Amino acid sequence: MRFIKVVLATSLTVASLPFGQSVHAVTWEYSNLDSQGEVVAYSADYPAQTAQAAAYWNSLAGATVVQVTNDPAAATVKVEKQETATGDTDPNVALTYAPDGITDVCPARIATQGVDLQTVITHEMGHSLGLNHDPNSTLMAPAGGQLGGQAHDYEALKADLASHGREIDNAAFDAPQSTSVAESSTVTESASVSAPAS
Ligand SMILES: [Zn+2]
Repeated sequence: MRFIKVVLATSLTVASLPFGQSVHAVTWEYSNLDSQGEVVAYSADYPAQTAQAAAYWNSLAGATVVQVTNDPAAATVKVEKQETATGDTDPNVALTYAPDGITDVCPARIATQGVDLQTVITHEMGHSLGLNHDPNSTLMAPAGGQLGGQAHDYEALKADLASHGREIDNAAFDAPQSTSVAESSTVTESASVSAPAS
């Protein structure tokens, strides 16, 4: 059942998009998240890049949202080298399938098109986390994605994970919260109410 694919598109693919798509959801209805709201990634072909991509997203989330495993049976996504991605009729540099949990990476096309392998794998992992293409994102842009622009991607990831029942709060990006102060004053007020009137 391999019915959804997304790509780090080439300019050719972008040019084929219909007009009027400037507004769309930044989250995708599919993901390769497990029931804990995590991607469990395995790669025999690109272990270092997969680990680095996981570190990128975990740092962004301020929590473990991507685990790397050496056990393919435990993985929810497998990052694999392919000369031509399965079913790909466009010269895409990579495709991610969900819910099948496959990311096909095409190194010859990456070399030909001069894009960065690490960026491609990090972008594709964003799709596995449930993120869609986002013209306002640096990394999840439909084409020419680059690492960076983390505050924007954090908000998208937070909304995405929330839709899967998981909350993340990274103090580096979230606005300062006054919750703890409010709770303290509530406790104080309760104590006052129960004290004997004098
Ligand atoms: Zn993409």
